Amino acid sequence: MAKLHVLGSGGPRPIATRFGSSHIVDVGGRKIMFDCGPASTYKMSKMDLHPLDIDYLFFTHHHFDHDVDYPCFMLTRWDESIGKENPLSVFGPNHTESITERLVGEEGAFAYDLNARRNHPLSQSMFELRGGTLPRPQINVKAHDVGPGTVFTGNDFEITAAPAEHVEPFLDSLAYRLDTLDGSIVFTGDTEPCEKVVELAYGADALVSMCGNFEAVYDARPDDIGQTGTLGAAEMAAEAGVKELFLVHVGPDLSALENRERGIAEVKTVFDGEVTLTDELQTYDWQKHDHSRDAPVTDPEAHPHIHRH
Ligand SMILES: [Zn+2]
Repeated sequence: MAKLHVLGSGGPRPIATRFGSSHIVDVGGRKIMFDCGPASTYKMSKMDLHPLDIDYLFFTHHHFDHDVDYPCFMLTRWDESIGKENPLSVFGPNHTESITERLVGEEGAFAYDLNARRNHPLSQSMFELRGGTLPRPQINVKAHDVGPGTVFTGNDFEITAAPAEHVEPFLDSLAYRLDTLDGSIVFTGDTEPCEKVVELAYGADALVSMCGNFEAVYDARPDDIGQTGTLGAAEMAAEAGVKELFLVHVGPDLSALENRERGIAEVKTVFDGEVTLTDELQTYDWQKHDHSRDAPVTDPEAHPHIHRH
């Protein structure tokens, strides 16, 4: 059974139960990470996951609620390694390479710490205790700026991206689709409901969609573009023909105990598959389905929130 580990299922405003976005898909014995928002590394340890479980990280975009724990994750992964592990491969829209360089490159913000840990006897002896052999290797992160299309093809999985519609032209945003023999799952990232993301998700098993608030709240503020609410998430899931919808990036209104059932009910008025409003530090099962008899249905009248080109 494939799994979705939810590390972060909120937005930029911290509340006791939610802060930022971060997810790990566990499929076919491999763990692949999507976004690295606040405290992702700490939340991993709370879920019995470890940075060295992760060889691939995909950023949807570079708002801080999706990437601020990136240095912590890279440094912890490096510090816990004994120099024999795989390099970390990181993919994201533009700025991914430059952010990586500015953090852990030779002139990066953390070059001082990396230098200290590679050269001081205290850190060297801890490294040897863990089983490493001196000299301590440099941090090994391979960052790639990517755009829409096939982003990565591995032995047992493929990642495809589509352009999301969020805060352009300031930041580019991508939605990602992960295809494996054990199923396909799509992350919308932060976006308004749009055709390109629906197309990316056609025939996938699960859609992990931003769902910031009740649609009525967004409808009442037409300038608040670039985000998805209850009905938008439901319409994208329905039109893409996915079987399961996981709601993430859930705002404080919708996540309040007295509101969540009403939110789920609203989603179910449009989408008749399984709906889960996710919580942080929880693991959810999802699975491969038979899509052979499904045909995608585009219905602008039934799905008015989807932005079409
Ligand atoms: Zn964002």
